[in-house]
Amino acid sequence: MNKCKYAKVCGGCDYQGLPYEKQLNKKQRAMENLLAPVLLRNGYEKEAVSLLFHPIIGADEPYGYRNKVHAVFGRGRNKKTICGTYEKGSHWVVDIDTCQIENAHAVELIRGIKDMMPSFKLQPYDEDKKTGTLRHVLIRVGQQADREEYMVVLVTGTKTFPGKKNFVKAIVDKYPEITTVVWNINDKKTSMGLGEEEEVLFGPGYVTDELLGNRFKISPKSFYQVHHGQTEKLYSAAIAAAKLQPTDVVLDAYCGTGTIGICAAPHCGSVVGVELNSAAVADAKENAKKNGIENISFRAGDAGEYLLRQAAEGKNLPNVVIMDPPRSGSSKEFIQALQKIRPERIVYVSCGPQSLARDLGFLLRPKHGQRLYRVESLQPCDMFPMTNHCEMICLLSKLHEAHCNRYTKGNHGRKIGE
Ligand code: SAH
Repeated sequence: MNKCKYAKVCGGCDYQGLPYEKQLNKKQRAMENLLAPVLLRNGYEKEAVSLLFHPIIGADEPYGYRNKVHAVFGRGRNKKTICGTYEKGSHWVVDIDTCQIENAHAVELIRGIKDMMPSFKLQPYDEDKKTGTLRHVLIRVGQQADREEYMVVLVTGTKTFPGKKNFVKAIVDKYPEITTVVWNINDKKTSMGLGEEEEVLFGPGYVTDELLGNRFKISPKSFYQVHHGQTEKLYSAAIAAAKLQPTDVVLDAYCGTGTIGICAAPHCGSVVGVELNSAAVADAKENAKKNGIENISFRAGDAGEYLLRQAAEGKNLPNVVIMDPPRSGSSKEFIQALQKIRPERIVYVSCGPQSLARDLGFLLRPKHGQRLYRVESLQPCDMFPMTNHCEMICLLSKLHEAHCNRYTKGNHGRKIGE
């Protein structure tokens, strides 16, 4: 594998230069080292633990996968406009023309947009001198079976954008695959993110991505998984782990724009999605409608508060919970509510295995001398090749009263002799 020439200054890829097979082995071992001790502390025997880990789901495309690509504009030594990323730990812009993990065409579009700036007298925004206009650009890609749609978000450091109409026209004339252009204003100091204010300059203001036959809307700010192929594998594995039945009532907790719930809905009785971000909930409702999914509904709010309320009311309780919390993991309230409701199966999808380890500790610890759950399987999935991140899918199933506290090889927690 070729080493990326920007590896040192960028610092985005921890596993830079390591053959992909080795990266996968490293992640597998890291997950086993992190999670096996939690199980061993909770009554599992060593042989039983090793049987629970499945081999990591690797990517067919470990390169060029990121469907969300950012670049910041700056000035090079000769005052020419450059674009790329901030040098690791500094505020200098490094001119970058290739990246091993970003969608290659998105990188090309960014270079093309940068090259067009001078003829429209557009200068990079200078945060200190408060001069210039364009601060950064974000490209989001919608992948569909037969085409790709590209969204360009032009972020200015100023509240005005002189000549925007002609600039946008020139961009979309040159690149017809750009189906929408959005102007976003971010006048905050040293921030790569998007600001509050935005205006759609061309197209619908979103792109459409297809996952497992469903179509999803990606807006400039919506959370969306960045590796298309791996997302399909992750969702398929999570839905398979849930062993859905036509009568199941499913909770899709931390549902984002409803992607997992919508893919799961045809396989079960009904789904409720819960999500804190109300803009994501609005997208989720629209996504469900677009895909003709009628047995799903969404609630905006904190997942823990929602589930505690459900537990208190005792009505329409889910018997399967699929949860996909942020890196910081779930909340105490959510875990307590799970222990009250006791769904038959919990599929914990984790992008922060450290917090999964912590939350598993709570879920496996006996309550009033009785264990409520056992771990059935642990499935690592590589959502971010070249980095040291690893996603996990953990299936827990409810232990019925007669089961005891020992987890042994072959019966995965069933009482010996049962
Ligand atoms: N399952 C989705 C989103 C996962 S990311 C997908 O695969 O695309 C985690 C989501 O949890 C984010 O959308 C975030 O807004 C949401 N979130 C964070 N804290 C939350 C809370 N306390 N209650 C509900 N949702 C929350």
